[in-house]
Amino acid sequence: MRTFSKSTKLDHVLYDVRGPVVEEADRMIASGQTVLKLNIGNPAPFGFNAPEEVIFDMARNLRESQGYSDSKGIWAARKAIMQYAQIRKIPNVDIDDIYTGNGVSELINLCMSALLDDGDEILIPAPDYPLWTACATLAGGKPVHYLCDEKSDWVPDLADIEKKITDRTKAIVIINPNNPTGAVYPRDVLERIAEIARQHQLILFADEIYDRLLMDGLAHTSIASLAPDLFCVTFSGLSKSHMIAGYRVGWMILSGNKRVAEDYIEGIKMLSSMRLCSNVPAQSIVQTALWGNQSVESYVVPEGRVTKQRDYVISRLEAMPGVSVVKPKAAFYCFPKLDTAKFGIRDDMQFAYDLLRAEHVLIVQGTGFNWVEPDHFRIVYLPMLTTLEEAMDKLERFLQGYRQGI
Ligand code: PLP
Repeated sequence: MRTFSKSTKLDHVLYDVRGPVVEEADRMIASGQTVLKLNIGNPAPFGFNAPEEVIFDMARNLRESQGYSDSKGIWAARKAIMQYAQIRKIPNVDIDDIYTGNGVSELINLCMSALLDDGDEILIPAPDYPLWTACATLAGGKPVHYLCDEKSDWVPDLADIEKKITDRTKAIVIINPNNPTGAVYPRDVLERIAEIARQHQLILFADEIYDRLLMDGLAHTSIASLAPDLFCVTFSGLSKSHMIAGYRVGWMILSGNKRVAEDYIEGIKMLSSMRLCSNVPAQSIVQTALWGNQSVESYVVPEGRVTKQRDYVISRLEAMPGVSVVKPKAAFYCFPKLDTAKFGIRDDMQFAYDLLRAEHVLIVQGTGFNWVEPDHFRIVYLPMLTTLEEAMDKLERFLQGYRQGI
């Protein structure tokens, strides 16, 4: 009998949200067991709701949102995003430089497909949000990972970036604020990354989907604002800043020196038209969401829910022998380090699996984010404080007796 296999292109694709550990968690849940899920950055299940005004406006616009829109998106949404770019000081942006997408995810895929020929290299951070590596790989490109330095609050290691540039390198990706580390890059680091891109004539891709989720009074700088002479693509959306991941709305902004990328932009336009357009009801709320009441601000002030949950999780992790963690400054993730010698860890997926089986706590192993050593894992601290308390008690208890392979 003829059987069908997945494309061999998928053989080298790693993705954090699936895999044996998640499948085991699904089985446990299906058999009636409770699993504390600290594995996915999806705000709605944890009581973070979209602003009422946004829901109201989407419902109101449904009747007019039945047809395909312009492939880049409706005028009002793109105008609102263009004004957002102006406020963020992203230079040389016209309404035609804005593309809406079914989440940032679709646009990352589109940009990689339009850019990379077989063997073309693209610099991607390690750890990364693994969709970047997956999309670059599927497009036939070669993701080359540069290190982010835990000892320097997880900012990119600039020497490592320079070392890894070859004559096949086309672009550099930065994820700022970062998933999974929660890092926010200082302006001078961004300036130096832009300088490297300038020297080597690279495109800058900036994934800034967490740009409105900064804590501790920090302000975010878009790297595109520091590089008017370079071609930059900046990504953002409403999944995180407005806690409406399910409506699927994101966008990208092409800025700076578009002349050097004329042919690439043609490719982007082709792929954008091939998917016809992004979800139109979701586009209809962009203006309301971007320029109305920013409910997310109340979560990230010092007494806000996200800040308090971060502080709680970090203080618990810091007190666990064999665990160290850099305090995140943004988003809702942290990326703790495990003492592999103490715990005998050689395989971090096994660690995640063992924790799940023993304590019913689901986290994602660090190698799921293209981190090469088996010594990290990611925690999402979106769940309610009571859940986080229970999860931290269980993690602490588990680590007290854990030695891998025994
Ligand atoms: N980029 C980063 C860094 C993310 O963490 C995520 C989702 O977790 C995405 C992009 C995808 O976002 P969207 O929901 O807009 O597709």
